[in-house]
Amino acid sequence: MAVTVSVASLPRQEGSSQPWVNDIPAPPEFGLELLKVPEGSPMHIDLLLQSVSEGVLVQGTADVHLVGQCARCLRDIEDAYREQITELVYYPERKAAFLEEGDEEVEESQEIVDDSFDLEAMLRDSIVPNLPFRPLCRPDCPGLCPECGERWDDLPEDHHHDHFDSRFDGLAALQAQMEADQMGADESEQDQA
Ligand SMILES: [Zn+2]
Ligand SMILES: [Zn+2]
Repeated sequence: MAVTVSVASLPRQEGSSQPWVNDIPAPPEFGLELLKVPEGSPMHIDLLLQSVSEGVLVQGTADVHLVGQCARCLRDIEDAYREQITELVYYPERKAAFLEEGDEEVEESQEIVDDSFDLEAMLRDSIVPNLPFRPLCRPDCPGLCPECGERWDDLPEDHHHDHFDSRFDGLAALQAQMEADQMGADESEQDQA
C-alpha cells in the first residue's frame, strides 16, 4: 500500500501552509543493490506543504537508516542519511494546462489525486538516485588483496604474494630434474663402454 499525504485540509489560497511530520515504516525494495533502507525501518519525514498557484510545494527532509556493503571490502555498512526534499505537486488542471502548452518537464511530476499525493513515490524519486552505486565503508578503503581475498586492513603491512619466487622454484626443480636425467644418461653410456 502506497503511503499518501492528504492535502484536503490545506487551504488552496496561495501562501497557506501546513506541516506534515511523521515516522513511516520504509517500504520494501527501497534503495540499490549494495545500499538500501531496510524494509520497515523508521523513515522520519518532516515536511512543510505550501499552496502555490500551480499546486502544492513540498519542502523538508527525510531522515532514513541505510544498510549495505562496502563495494571494495564487502564490510557491512550502517549509516544515517538525510535527504532534502523540494517537489512541486501539480493540481491536475494546472498540469494538464502546462502539458497542453508543450511543457514536457511537468510530465514526470506528480499531481494531486483525491486530495492527496504519493509520498512513497516522492521519497523514492528524491532519495534513490542520490545513493552511491558503489558505497564505501570509508573514502580510502583499501579493499581486498586480489590474490587471497583478505581485507588489506586485516593483513600485516608487508603482506605480499611472491610470484617470482614460486616460478623460480619451479624452474629450479625442472633444472635439477634435467641434471639428474643427464647424469643417468652418462652412467648408462659408461656401462655400455
Ligand atoms: Zn571497505
Ligand atoms: Zn594476499
